[in-house]
Amino acid sequence: MGEKALVISLKLRYSVGMTYPIMTVESEAGLRSIAFRHPWIFSKQVKKPSRDIANGDIVWVADPNGAILATGTFSPHSMISVRILAFEKVTLSPEWVRDMIARAQHRRERLGYGFGDTTGYRVVFGEADGLAGLVVDRYGDVIVFQMSTAGMVNMRHDVLAALESIFSPTAIIEKSEMNVRGEEGLAEDIVTCHVGTLPERILFRENGATFMVDPIHGQKTGFFLDQKDLRALIRRYAKGRSVLNVFSYSGAASVMAMLGGATRVVNVDSSEQALAWSRENAALNGVAADAVMCEKADAFQWIGREPDTTFDMIILDPPALIKGRRDLEAGRKAYHFLNRAALRWLADDGILITSSCSHYLTEEDLNTTLRRASLQSKVMLDVWHAVRQSPDHPISLYFPESAYLKSIVAGNPTRPPLY
Ligand code: SAH
Repeated sequence: MGEKALVISLKLRYSVGMTYPIMTVESEAGLRSIAFRHPWIFSKQVKKPSRDIANGDIVWVADPNGAILATGTFSPHSMISVRILAFEKVTLSPEWVRDMIARAQHRRERLGYGFGDTTGYRVVFGEADGLAGLVVDRYGDVIVFQMSTAGMVNMRHDVLAALESIFSPTAIIEKSEMNVRGEEGLAEDIVTCHVGTLPERILFRENGATFMVDPIHGQKTGFFLDQKDLRALIRRYAKGRSVLNVFSYSGAASVMAMLGGATRVVNVDSSEQALAWSRENAALNGVAADAVMCEKADAFQWIGREPDTTFDMIILDPPALIKGRRDLEAGRKAYHFLNRAALRWLADDGILITSSCSHYLTEEDLNTTLRRASLQSKVMLDVWHAVRQSPDHPISLYFPESAYLKSIVAGNPTRPPLY
């Protein structure tokens, strides 16, 4: 497209008569939800639009009197009809998109991310940053983003322009391959390098450690940036300990443990590729190869065996075992099984570090799981730390769904007689 044509098409997209279709919220619950600044409006809360509104179109949300309360994007295929981008009447523009991303980046700078010791962090976390459908991660000079709604896909051009102008990255990669895209009518996964060239190796720092990441072949955007705070605690308590890291992925927690003075670490993961990355990450940080053992296995089977040794620190960080409400019971059992099994491998003075990234398993549920596992395996524990996702994945007060990751660091195991 020529530059002139592009400019005209942009103008058209953003400013046809400067109005957007109106969606009226009639239900009390819907109006209350907007007043509480929750960014989702469910299909049952809005009146069916009188004319056709396409998937991803920008809409204004009005109350029954016609007062416009919010601006968002429309999803005819999802239970969530509108994802709110602004709790006011606005006209979206490339400048609006740039400003939102720049603000998100500014918030990360305040947290100390992006320079010095930590150059890998989440820049934009969807609704929690007011940008439903967009996730942006930064790995040093490389940006990786994911889009999960048609509304956001329509803004891709402006998102790319904003990312280029704010970060001047060497590459911008899109890694849009999430399951939810189906519900949003986005059938195709998109994995591509939009800007620059894909470097052979992407390196970044986290609290002084160096990690490699392969966004194209890796899970999500390639790395679990949300566990930074937990990894800092792992490093703090690792001195002199043997470590078992179950669901180790690219071994980030193991590296932190070794940097903290752990004596050795065993990584367990079902992915050969993940284990290969964990060896690379160990080498990048000067960890002796013979201190890291990699076990390619199903973690449930591996840890369910009769223990033949013990570990002074056990890290359990499974993938989301509860993806939706209907998996709740099976998922709870799986978490229970893992924690109970892990406690049998725990040394007398050991530390158990257990996580759940399932939104549907609450912090209290994780406590309950650990309490039951502890009673059944007859190992009493103190909770040393309750940890959440690091604040580059902000938990929005107005969007409880943004809270998903929780971990418990539990120590001082005792094995008293139980009656
Ligand atoms: N703790 C990691 C993230 C874990 S992601 C970190 O901080 O980087 C979940 C990992 O579990 C992935 O590497 C995946 O390959 C692995 N996995 C999933 N199901 C598994 C199973 N049944 N047995 C072993 N590993 C599994």
